[in-house]
Amino acid sequence: MADDYSPLEREIRRLIAVAGPVPVADYMRLCLTHPQYGYYTTREPIGASGDFITAPEVSQMFGELIGLWMAATWQEMGAPENVRLVELGPGRGTMMLDALRAAKVAKKFYAAIVLHLVEISPKLQDLQRQRFADLDVPMWWHASLAEIPDGPIMIVANEFIDALPVHQAVKQADGWHERVVAVADDGALVMRTAADALPNFDATLPRELRDSPDGSIYEWRSDTVAFDIGRRVRNDGVALIVDYGHARQGLGETLQAVADHSFADPLQAPGETDLTAHVDFATLAISADIIGARSHGPVSQRDFLKRLGIDKRAAALKASRPDKSEAIDAALARLTGTGPNEMGALFKVLAIADPKIGPLPALQERR
Ligand code: SAH
Repeated sequence: MADDYSPLEREIRRLIAVAGPVPVADYMRLCLTHPQYGYYTTREPIGASGDFITAPEVSQMFGELIGLWMAATWQEMGAPENVRLVELGPGRGTMMLDALRAAKVAKKFYAAIVLHLVEISPKLQDLQRQRFADLDVPMWWHASLAEIPDGPIMIVANEFIDALPVHQAVKQADGWHERVVAVADDGALVMRTAADALPNFDATLPRELRDSPDGSIYEWRSDTVAFDIGRRVRNDGVALIVDYGHARQGLGETLQAVADHSFADPLQAPGETDLTAHVDFATLAISADIIGARSHGPVSQRDFLKRLGIDKRAAALKASRPDKSEAIDAALARLTGTGPNEMGALFKVLAIADPKIGPLPALQERR
């Protein structure tokens, strides 16, 4: 019988019919990166005309300061003659374009760069190839970090981790149950909890979150990405991670769907909205430390950009383009302000590095 479901929704429903309800993380992964119908696979979602806007799309100042950070960090690394500069999830490529333009003044650093772009979406890869066509650095594209050859490495990622699948568990009388997506009797997709409790789940939680009241929700991501990054940088490498999230582990649900710059229901129109969840920076840092790398920060995006001199950069831009003064001030406020619709406090910056490297520019040591 014909139905109105999108091809992706049909596939998710078929999966549930065959194998039972799917964990929220699997649902999220299918929605975002299904090889044919995923949100990132099929769309170009970022920017004023897309579904959401990211810091590099707010202002060139963001990428430029990242470029200066890279050049200074390369010095801290001992100025290796060749460095693999890796971006995870470059999106429209704006941050890297701005960063490289700014880093070009550091001639030796610029000459050392081999660029590696890790991008799962063929569509965004195409866009990046077009936008990077005039760059005079060697560049390669990959589907995952694992494909990048050995050697001194500098990894940057903005709003990448928030798009990686997140698991949720709900506390009930007999323990924590994983949250799953199921089909209700009336045919709608609904959130449920798995019938069986996750064995020994309390023991995996930070001490202060054990014995939480019934109904509490806990979110977590697979450690794989933190371990992969940590393993790759612990000898001669540094990674810089910028994302929205919390500096401490906590309870609560943060999974959200965004379409056309407003919030939507994550179960409505799978594959057509952006799904993200807060990044748990404390857990990222711990995982990196466990694998033998060292974490630096997190610090707020506000502190990070201020320490790198964003106020001066804004003043210089305004001096050369007085007609753009208001727009530059608005962008500065968006990037560094601490209000609810601003990025300065919500976004955090964490570095993961070879323990021999440091201190790193604009990042305080964690206590
Ligand atoms: N960094 C950009 C884009 C952020 S959106 C910016 O700040 O504007 C997330 C990006 O990560 C997109 O380019 C998306 O296609 C990519 N992505 C999402 N999941 C991925 C995965 N598992 N592997 C590689 N890239 C992924």
